[in-house]
Amino acid sequence: MRTVLTAEKLWNGISLIDHPVVEIEDGRIASVSSRTDGKLPAHAVVLDYSGATLAAAFLDVHIHGAAGHDVMEATPQALNTIGRFLASHGTGSYLATTVTAPLDVTLRSLSGLARLLAKAPNPADLEATRMGIHLEGPFVSHAKRGVHPPEYLLAPDTGVFDRLYEAAEGHVRLMTLAPELPGAAELAAHATARGVRVSVGHSNATAAETRAAIAAGAVSATHTFNAMRALDHHEPGILGVVLTCDSLFAELICDGIHTDPELVKLWWRAKGPKRAILVTDAMSATGMPDGEYQLGGFTVQVADGKASMGGVLAGSLLTLDRALTKFLAFTGAPLEQALQLLTANPAAMTGLGDRAGSLAVGQPANFVAVDGQGALVASVLGGKEVSAMR
Ligand SMILES: [Zn+2]
Repeated sequence: MRTVLTAEKLWNGISLIDHPVVEIEDGRIASVSSRTDGKLPAHAVVLDYSGATLAAAFLDVHIHGAAGHDVMEATPQALNTIGRFLASHGTGSYLATTVTAPLDVTLRSLSGLARLLAKAPNPADLEATRMGIHLEGPFVSHAKRGVHPPEYLLAPDTGVFDRLYEAAEGHVRLMTLAPELPGAAELAAHATARGVRVSVGHSNATAAETRAAIAAGAVSATHTFNAMRALDHHEPGILGVVLTCDSLFAELICDGIHTDPELVKLWWRAKGPKRAILVTDAMSATGMPDGEYQLGGFTVQVADGKASMGGVLAGSLLTLDRALTKFLAFTGAPLEQALQLLTANPAAMTGLGDRAGSLAVGQPANFVAVDGQGALVASVLGGKEVSAMR
């Protein structure tokens, strides 16, 4: 049986299609056309989102956990629970993101994640697909560590990186790295040569140190403004380069807490519709009541919409559907440009465009339907509608 999606518009990453008709067969996109071209196919289940815009499901390249679980637990139960929660918020795929922990703990988590990544997801589970791993730490700065435990931070070292990469069986897709650390440029080049994207962040780097990391292969910046040396007009530092280097992608946590809306506007003007990436940096308390939760191996207090440890923000409680509505409210950007920040841009940065964040024929039929304010109307994975978990 075929499934057909219809809506007001469809954004395919390049153009807007009016009155779209998406045919889905065996969970994959069979065709995308417009109702103005012909009639609806007969004998099909029709999911109609009249008034809404269809787009590719979101790709989150920076997420630690949700729904009471952390990806570093690396168990099927933890990952399935996180995946189902994300799916209910429009996220079709993600990079499981680690935090700094003792090296042996990280190695154990990575090999657990590698086993889970190697298994093809069961389409009936309706969960977001884990596309790989984002290593956030241990190669980050003491000065801008945020809540990463100082005793486990490490200087960049290609040998340690190789142990992490091998424990993850090559599934590391992205790594956050502080450019000012000795050996950072060498590690950026080494990781890039192994196919890992390097993202500058958790850093007190000068502009020159940041440029050196970019010259060595860094392609993105981790949560712009957060855990990053502040802008100074004499030494623009990492932030000055992140905002002005046209080739560099840049993440932002758009929850209205991590970055003031005025600076969300500045970031949007600087990075624009081809380089800006919205992430959640969500931790296990996302979707849960206030209380104490784990982020990697440490305990975080959650109250009033904030996750913190000793007054320092510790991940977020954000979902990408809310990030989209807030971004639109803060910036007034056109909906189709904003959608790029959760689909095409993270896919281009990570090189996952043939599997996530796009809508080519033959790809898994993973869609969001959103209204004019960007609010999620429905999430569709493998051609099936995901019902909200909460
Ligand atoms: Zn993070």
